[in-house]
Amino acid sequence: QRTPLIAANWKMHGSTALVQQMSAALSELPPTNLTIVVCPPATLLPRFSQVSSFALGGQTLSHEVSGAYTGELSAELLQEAGAHYVIVGHSERRTLNNEDDALVAAKLKRAVAAGLIPILCIGETLAQRQQEKTEQVLAQQLDAVYASQPELLAKSVIAYEPIWAIGTGESATPEQAQATHAFIRQHLAQYDTQSAVRAKILYGGSVNAGNCAALFQQADIDGALVGGASLKPAEFAQICLAVT
Ligand code: 13P
Repeated sequence: QRTPLIAANWKMHGSTALVQQMSAALSELPPTNLTIVVCPPATLLPRFSQVSSFALGGQTLSHEVSGAYTGELSAELLQEAGAHYVIVGHSERRTLNNEDDALVAAKLKRAVAAGLIPILCIGETLAQRQQEKTEQVLAQQLDAVYASQPELLAKSVIAYEPIWAIGTGESATPEQAQATHAFIRQHLAQYDTQSAVRAKILYGGSVNAGNCAALFQQADIDGALVGGASLKPAEFAQICLAVT
């Protein structure tokens, strides 16, 4: 059976003070089978790895191994800083940094090759949902990564993040999220049935302490990728408690 995973995406927020506060808050949680992954700005990774026992992740990585790529971070640099996971293809990077499906696939491949566990983000815009294109969009985002290399699925975590729910305070309803997660798992089964059953599929988009329990009750929701609420240590700890 799948064990839960809760990931925090701090985006371009946080500080060394928040690293201390988050580590303290999470250290009080009872031991469970929950995996917690905090993805702070990369500059805070070494500080986090000195004080925390949970897993850490980067928010993106270069698809290149090394070289003259000013400002980029390789998988190996992230690992040296303490990361075991890395978010790949977040909608903000797809939109603001023009990351297309091919680049996202190359990044995911690089992460796996280096031994990082990628958290692949997929999701539709509001217009796409209204035009009933959600399944088509998600299938295309998944196919771009896994169709040619289905073996990557066993080494990935998937995060379904409807773009209209990110940072809006308007989460998908548990029913909407479950229906979409079920579609994703069914689609993943086309690559590899066993891996599809085992794949962790996280929900992301305005998850908070108030709405998380109903989401976590859904059969195909294995945890969450939390943005805003992951900057509040007490609330993030509550979300972690709710999934166990
Ligand atoms: P919010 O939880 O702030 O909506 O952000 C979700 C997200 O983008 C996590 O990657």
